[in-house]
Amino acid sequence: MSRPAIAHIRLDAFRHNYRIAKQSHGGKALAVIKANAYGHGAIQCAQAIENEADGFAVAAIEEALQLREARITAPILLLEGFFEAAELPVIVANDFWIVIHHLWQVEVLLETALAKPLNVWLKLDSGMHRVGLSPADYSEAYSRLSQHVNVAKLVLMTHFANADNLNSDHTQQQVAVFQETITGMGKLSAALCETSLANSAGILSWPQAQGNWSRPGIMLYGASPVSERLTGQALRAVMQLTSRIISIRKIAKGESTGYGSIFTAERDTKVGVVACGYADGYPRSATTGTPIAVDGQMTRLIGRVSMDMLFVDLTDIPNAEIGSQVELWGDQVSANEVAQSAGTIAYELFCNVKRVQFKYS
Ligand code: PLP
Repeated sequence: MSRPAIAHIRLDAFRHNYRIAKQSHGGKALAVIKANAYGHGAIQCAQAIENEADGFAVAAIEEALQLREARITAPILLLEGFFEAAELPVIVANDFWIVIHHLWQVEVLLETALAKPLNVWLKLDSGMHRVGLSPADYSEAYSRLSQHVNVAKLVLMTHFANADNLNSDHTQQQVAVFQETITGMGKLSAALCETSLANSAGILSWPQAQGNWSRPGIMLYGASPVSERLTGQALRAVMQLTSRIISIRKIAKGESTGYGSIFTAERDTKVGVVACGYADGYPRSATTGTPIAVDGQMTRLIGRVSMDMLFVDLTDIPNAEIGSQVELWGDQVSANEVAQSAGTIAYELFCNVKRVQFKYS
């Protein structure tokens, strides 16, 4: 029998969440499946919605090529564009769409002879200050690109820094910068182009930030970035990470368990050892008290997570035994809660899952 740590990937939930994203936004939606679909399996996720998806977005060309090799024919946007001119013939040959986020890319694109014109998403830095052209450079880049033989279509885009923070007005400021920049482009304006602003948090929380295209990522996997809005009732968790109890022992009040002895029992405690650790992607930084479900009953993580194992408090689950099913996150335990207790975000939890068996349904 193989090790019981399993990531169950429910593709019907992925499809359901894509539909919610599209309905909530109202326009076209590029499913963001970079980083192996946030750890869920890019090819499987793409195949699950390829008949209805308006397109996909990945970070780099290697990810996009894997999708083409799996015969995904839908549009694929490269969110970081290209890193050197040598990639452009491959981009053209595979009909990839590219984000242009820097002036050097504008220069290279305009200097390179291409077999066919490309679809370009021109990224404005409206306030995130990571990548994107400044408002001052944006309209010039737009007018050069829009008149050039290498460019088929232009989509005007920006990305939000704080859309998950409903108490911040930063998103509204970014939308205003985006709109002012486009309006300032005069005749050569958005009337000719489609636009794209919203990530998942933008879709769920900022109706003024919609544009023609949305770019949902985390919500497709069932983790809402804005807990106050759409809850788990509407979005469905795609990944359920489970394992089993492989050992049980009793420790007396005052005794400790695991590395560093960081957990000391405050009462006589029945300790379960679960076959899942930080080498599988369960965060080592998760603290005592992090929710875990055993045979459908809620209990808590105790002690320090090791590389291959972690500890769970079974004191109040008398029927728990070796072989009992443990849910680390999924349906009863939300990945957001585990992430919060580990000082991280669900995005990182999902991306880190490895070594476990992946089972698709
Ligand atoms: N758009 C861009 C440019 C991104 O970089 C990302 C992800 O980081 C997304 C959309 C999707 O964001 P989220 O997963 O928060 O929906």
